[in-house]
Amino acid sequence: MSPLLAALAPDSSLVAILYIVSFSLFIYGIKLGTHPTSARRGNMVAAVGMAIAVITTLCQKGIGNWDIIIGGLLVGTIVGAVASKKVKMTEMPQMVALYNGLGGGAIALIAWSEYREWVHEAEPLKQLVGGLGDRTVIIIHSGLSVPLEVMIPTLLAMVIGSISFWGSNVAFGKLQELIPSQPLALPGQKIINGVLLVLLIAGGVYLGVNNEYVNLDQPVFILMLVVAALLGVGVVMPIGGADMPVVISLLNAFTGLSAAAAGIALDNTALIVAGTLVGSSGTILTLEMATAMNRSVANILFAGFGSPATGGGGDKEERPYRSLNAQDAAIALAYADSVVIVPGYGLAVAQAQHTVKEMADELNKKGVTVNYAIHPVAGRMPGHMNVLLAEADVPYDQLKEMDEINPELPQTDVCVVIGANDVTNPAAKTDESSPIYGMPIIEVDEAQQVLVLKRSMSAGFAGIDNDLFYNEKTAMVFGDAKQTVQDIVTELGNL
Ligand code: NDP
Repeated sequence: MSPLLAALAPDSSLVAILYIVSFSLFIYGIKLGTHPTSARRGNMVAAVGMAIAVITTLCQKGIGNWDIIIGGLLVGTIVGAVASKKVKMTEMPQMVALYNGLGGGAIALIAWSEYREWVHEAEPLKQLVGGLGDRTVIIIHSGLSVPLEVMIPTLLAMVIGSISFWGSNVAFGKLQELIPSQPLALPGQKIINGVLLVLLIAGGVYLGVNNEYVNLDQPVFILMLVVAALLGVGVVMPIGGADMPVVISLLNAFTGLSAAAAGIALDNTALIVAGTLVGSSGTILTLEMATAMNRSVANILFAGFGSPATGGGGDKEERPYRSLNAQDAAIALAYADSVVIVPGYGLAVAQAQHTVKEMADELNKKGVTVNYAIHPVAGRMPGHMNVLLAEADVPYDQLKEMDEINPELPQTDVCVVIGANDVTNPAAKTDESSPIYGMPIIEVDEAQQVLVLKRSMSAGFAGIDNDLFYNEKTAMVFGDAKQTVQDIVTELGNL
């Protein structure tokens, strides 16, 4: 190892300063991430912070085997760079699940390696104790133990990291359709999960109480790693695929907590701060998503939403509705003063964002004011619509949050709902028996006229019919969103 690279003592003030710089950059990066215009820069700032933290850690004395470190860095960089270039926007949630899971898995392994090291250090002591009498055992017991302030965070890091790794892998498998996405549970799954949790607590107490070097018990530690893995799988398997983004956000918070715990055990400030940031932001995001869906986190985790048991899908009564072709839709739009576009999951599936921008440009040329109404949980991940529309260079000032646009809708001439469904369903306001009752919606039914672009009358994520489609103000324009919008753009050009 080069002496330059091994220059820093872990407790030197230079290391402390570099870590403070790195986590200050994380915090500033998150701050920049709160607005679309600065979010990209925020990502870069946080990445620079991470690079400083990694380099500082690697440059410390006694860091380990350089062949493995450089090999790992190369493999990780190549896989990460290729995967993030290739991933489609609609596959982003499973990509996040995979990365998050790897973080949790890494933390669990770090915790295990710490415990292994204590066990190795204890080996000569155990042999010594074996050859001596009880008095010596008492002296050794009282003097040589792993401090509880190190043991407890190590156990927490192992348990939470392992739950997060296995839970995230199940979430990835469901979203990637490698395993069935519907809720899957063994009979008595909740009881099984409860028993696993009790075993983890009992194991933790046992290892915590037996923290003397001579009593360290690696088999129990490994058993806990396995029990935590089973709990991770057992908790996520019974959750439907469509709820996975919320679960991933929660598991992300778990990974953050496990990283913070590992930071306490390793006395690494950067890891403590980074872990706490991930833990708190993941928790806030989970709560925001649950609020925007008007469901509790417990309901998401335990209700098996969208499964046949909760009535997802179901029989639909035949009701009359109106439909228009692209030419008539173009006429309605061209003669409007104000148009509000409401994008949803179907826009992401159809990858219609660029075509939608073209349509808005055509309408602008005709003097029509166009804005976009963004629901916080439209699509399948937080900020999904913002990211898609930013990709198509839609000006940020045209993106209006739900609370801002709703009061303007009664004065809006035409609302164009593109591949959105649940986030516009008036049942959320009026039907107390609806599973989405209470969820705040984009109040599209308040506009003068509504065009709904989707392929059929099928339900969206919540599996329920949408009264909006049968409203007398509404006209359905059937077809793939991208093709329909393209046809409207062509027709607008002819007007
Ligand atoms: P929905 O899932 O309610 O509806 C999407 C609609 O898009 C479908 O009804 C479908 O109808 C249509 N569609 C699909 N493909 C196409 C296509 N190629 N062209 C045109 N239309 C298409 O989506 P919303 O965005 O309205 O609502 C999001 C839902 O997801 C909410 O219920 C929310 O709670 C949930 N959710 C959101 C999360 C988030 O973070 N954003 C996380 C977890 C859940 P058809 O098949 O007829 O075309």
